[in-house]
Amino acid sequence: MAAHPLSDPAFLRALAAEIGTPFLFYEADVLRKRIATIRDLVAGPSLAARFAMKACSAHLVLREMQKSGVWIDAVSGNEVLRAKRAGFAMGAEPPVVLLTADVFRDNALDVIRSERVLPNLGSPGQLRTLAEAGYRGPVGLRVNPGFGHGHVRATDTGGPSSKHGIWLDDLLPLAAAAERDGFPVTLLHAHVGSGPEVEEFNENVARLALVFENLLPGLPSCSAVSFGGGLPHSYRDPSFAPDLGPLGRTLRSAQESFRTRTGRDIRVEIEPGRFFVAPCATVVARVADRKHTRTNEKGEGHGFLMVDAGFVDLVRPAMYGAFHRISVVGDRLGPPEAWAVAGPLCESGDVFTRDAAEIVQPRDLPTPEPGDFVLLHDAGAYGAVMSSNYNSLGRAPQVWWEEGRATLMSRRETLDDVVAAECEEPLRTTSL
Ligand SMILES: *Cc1c(COP(=O)(O)O)cnc(C)c1O
Repeated sequence: MAAHPLSDPAFLRALAAEIGTPFLFYEADVLRKRIATIRDLVAGPSLAARFAMKACSAHLVLREMQKSGVWIDAVSGNEVLRAKRAGFAMGAEPPVVLLTADVFRDNALDVIRSERVLPNLGSPGQLRTLAEAGYRGPVGLRVNPGFGHGHVRATDTGGPSSKHGIWLDDLLPLAAAAERDGFPVTLLHAHVGSGPEVEEFNENVARLALVFENLLPGLPSCSAVSFGGGLPHSYRDPSFAPDLGPLGRTLRSAQESFRTRTGRDIRVEIEPGRFFVAPCATVVARVADRKHTRTNEKGEGHGFLMVDAGFVDLVRPAMYGAFHRISVVGDRLGPPEAWAVAGPLCESGDVFTRDAAEIVQPRDLPTPEPGDFVLLHDAGAYGAVMSSNYNSLGRAPQVWWEEGRATLMSRRETLDDVVAAECEEPLRTTSL
């Protein structure tokens, strides 16, 4: 078997000469394997998987989902329109694209009206907002079932401190009012996230199934339930493949109990984001320099690998202290040392080797020379989509790798891209 292209310094130098560094490298076969895993999980009648496209909205990734029959969970009007551009069907029958929004902002209401995609409401007042905007039609309701689990506190998705969803006790009264006013509730939804283990996700699904089972008799128009996303990815162990068998059985037995309870065939959906895409992309950065802070009398001090990627390219370590595997690629690597890997931004938190509490947590890595490469693995989920223009850096280009061929899927942003929205236009509003 040929060596992996990303472990070949000559390959990386050639790509870098063509498009510069840093860049994101997407592998079609890795993505397709994850899509196949989820398709197997939901094989059979009345089961469906959506891709929570906020995790990665690149058009080539969306197109892979579309070709494989995966549906979409979108969270903004623009995400719906990007899904449309990638070839997804609009309309609510079937609801190929679901718009789950806590707040309608920008063009979300216009897009619901014009594309007729199913709005999934997370706040009771959104029903009034929809009515005022002239929409009448089916809606989904997202419930906050009173429990949940995020992988860190910032991603808490259920329970009394979560901002998401309609509180359990308020759901049926709201649904009754909605039905009366011309908004049949066709989908019941919850996204309670998961811990780091798939077993915990499975437990949450089983718990949610009981909540759904008790709500469904009060929802006469409901034909589908969604257990949300949150299927975890193992960021530490690339060889780990979770056993999704128990989850598949939980989904099917939930479906059976919904049928018993309602006498209807209820479609059961899941909508993973990260699990679909996390492993398919890698941030490729170039080593600019090595340096050391002085060792004081307490023996403190660190070695830093300075690289040209920063949290503008991958924010998860800086934002959540998230762990990403790092590897070093070069022709003549020196022996391993404890290295902190840090980026170019004017911000002391611009360090990839850290956790939520500590800014610098060096890792044992082979010692590269300037010009060698550092790879930040598993950057496919919440990578490019969370990139920014901080420090007026243009977003890094993205490369699609398929059967030995590279395609540029987005170019490096220029200064003109960075300032594209700047203007100087007088507004009509003056002081009163
Ligand atoms: C973020 C989100 C998902 C996907 O979460 P992952 O942890 O990436 O699987 C699914 N559904 C909704 C409503 C979300 O907000």
